[in-house]
Amino acid sequence: MTTQTKRFIELSDLLGLRFECKECHASLFLPLSKVLIASRLRSCPHCNHPWLAVMNGQSGTSVYGDVSEVVDAVRKLASRFDGTLGFPVGCSMLVEVADKGSEK
Ligand SMILES: [Zn+2]
Repeated sequence: MTTQTKRFIELSDLLGLRFECKECHASLFLPLSKVLIASRLRSCPHCNHPWLAVMNGQSGTSVYGDVSEVVDAVRKLASRFDGTLGFPVGCSMLVEVADKGSEK
């Protein structure tokens, strides 16, 4: 017999984003209920290791916009599904997450 456990979360279960530095492992939690200014996550506040931006001389590239888009989309969708924005969504939406503890 094979059994399978699936794990789902509702968008309203998403409390915020947790960033962990790959260099020093310091972590930072930013709640979705507050304004997130992704450009302030340019580098680790503890060791200054680059986080969301990489500089190459005078120019650089970043993923600030991508992070902001995800945050905005999650907030908007959560409001749609909980009825806050008044759209009559006729279903629920859950996000399936990996159960990494049982995959080994
Ligand atoms: Zn760090």
